[in-house]
Amino acid sequence: MTEPSAATNGVRGDDGVETASRGSARHGSETKKKKPFENVLIVGAGPAGLLLAILLARSGIPSTVLEAWDRPDERLRATQYGVPATRVFRRAGLLDDMRARGIDSFPYICWRSARTGERIAGIDLSVVADEPDRMTVLPLSQMLDIMVRHCRERYAEHVTLLFNHKVERVGQDDAGAWAEVRLLGGGGEEEEGGRTTTTAAADRVVRFGADYLVGCDGSKSTVRQCLFQRHWPGETFAGQLLVQNVYYKGFEEHGWDGGNYMIDDEFWGLIAKRGKANNSSNSTTNGPLWRVTYGDLRSAADEISEEEHIRRRAAAFKKLLPGHPDPSQYTVTQTSRFRIHNRCVDAMRVGRVLLAGDAAHVCNPFGGYGCMAAVLDVDGLADCLVGVYEGKAAADGGTAEGAEGAEGKEGKEEGKEGILDAYARIRRQKFVDFVDRRSRKNMDRIARTDPDTALETDPFLRLLKSMEGNAERTKEFLLKVSSIEFDFTTLYSKTGAEEE
Ligand SMILES: Cc1cc2nc3c(=O)[nH]c(=O)nc-3n(C[C@H](O)[C@H](O)[C@H](O)COP(=O)(O)OP(=O)(O)OC[C@H]3O[C@@H](n4cnc5c(N)ncnc54)[C@H](O)[C@@H]3O)c2cc1C
Repeated sequence: MTEPSAATNGVRGDDGVETASRGSARHGSETKKKKPFENVLIVGAGPAGLLLAILLARSGIPSTVLEAWDRPDERLRATQYGVPATRVFRRAGLLDDMRARGIDSFPYICWRSARTGERIAGIDLSVVADEPDRMTVLPLSQMLDIMVRHCRERYAEHVTLLFNHKVERVGQDDAGAWAEVRLLGGGGEEEEGGRTTTTAAADRVVRFGADYLVGCDGSKSTVRQCLFQRHWPGETFAGQLLVQNVYYKGFEEHGWDGGNYMIDDEFWGLIAKRGKANNSSNSTTNGPLWRVTYGDLRSAADEISEEEHIRRRAAAFKKLLPGHPDPSQYTVTQTSRFRIHNRCVDAMRVGRVLLAGDAAHVCNPFGGYGCMAAVLDVDGLADCLVGVYEGKAAADGGTAEGAEGAEGKEGKEEGKEGILDAYARIRRQKFVDFVDRRSRKNMDRIARTDPDTALETDPFLRLLKSMEGNAERTKEFLLKVSSIEFDFTTLYSKTGAEEE
């Protein structure tokens, strides 16, 4: 097992890279019955990496999380997580804290014409206001704060969380997987598994080893690039996505609430309430926080400059926001810019290295699928690893490296596919069949639909319109088990553990 305190226990190998020693007193297993594996290395402390560490810790599986940055990501990204993700947050013991910080109850999501502001169709979320599985609304940065706190306060015995640890290369052999990690930050105090240790000086490279390595390192994943170089099938869309946190009294004055998808061929996007009302003494940031996200195709060719962004933003806001305000009427407190992609790897497992979340697949954010898919990936992967750890499932199938199983289970003898191959195959297929397709449709609905005829041309909007006023039907629609979910514990007896 990897000794997590790389700063103090490294030994230098022939290649000049320090190796963190395997075998740790903290998780020592000499006196315990030997488990099928001992630990997991997780690259990236985003929602996928932290949640995986938490879920593994809840079953007593030790992990080390390596994060390149000195703190969790603060960019303006995910804010809403659908019912399937909410179920996982509860299972992970996170939901109460998330609800306490976020908007407790989101009244509706609707689609509007940007030109007129008129509502075309919507979903009444008030019908599930008392349902424990209802959508969770909380900015990603706040969710990460909660996850970091849980790792440190509740799971310190099993989770070692190391910031300033940038993975540069990963590899594997028969004995395990490893990551070469550049220690950044130039020294200082660091929280480590509930203990504070001193980090190493900058520019040291240390090799961390484990039985399995999971790349949760986001869309620019180093782990993915080590496996597949630049090959990442899919599409990068024209234009950029401009995201801003906004205070504007006009939202409430014009009766807006919840999430509002804006249909338009110039500026299309989502305007959604993202924070509880605050009582700031500063009159410009008094009231609830809103998030305005819009796509700007005219910025397609090059990176849009800061000046261009601000200049065009005034025009976008004038068109999109109720009351068509001038810049003096709202306050923008934070902005982020993104390119938009829908991409997925050919395989989410290569031997002892697995991928989850954005490291494996990305999609445009309309419909709130990215983080939700990441959450469902790691929930499934945690179940698979727990199954192997507890001897309820075999990691690998009947063939060497589990290669046969990765092709697909259909037509094969039952029980031959290892559960880690099942993870890789099923979660990838869920992305390709549902998340990719639906998120593309969601973006087309707002960017390439004529709002004047949307109800005639778009079956989804027609379905929503037909449910309006029918609480029972709406509730059933919102809470049904989604096709993007999969319970891997149902495979425990079928994946060959009994053959081990
Ligand atoms: C504008 C916008 C809005 C969105 N809204 C939603 C939404 O409402 N709902 C939803 O479900 N999804 C949404 N998403 C998508 C969602 O934010 C992502 O899918 C989600 O953050 C993916 O989580 P992750 O943990 O896989 O990756 P990330 O969140 O990207 O985390 C990866 C982590 O790995 C670290 N890392 C990277 N490289 C290395 C390395 N070499 N070594 C060590 N660490 C490394 C990074 O610093 C980062 O902390 C949105 C995205 C955008 C851009």
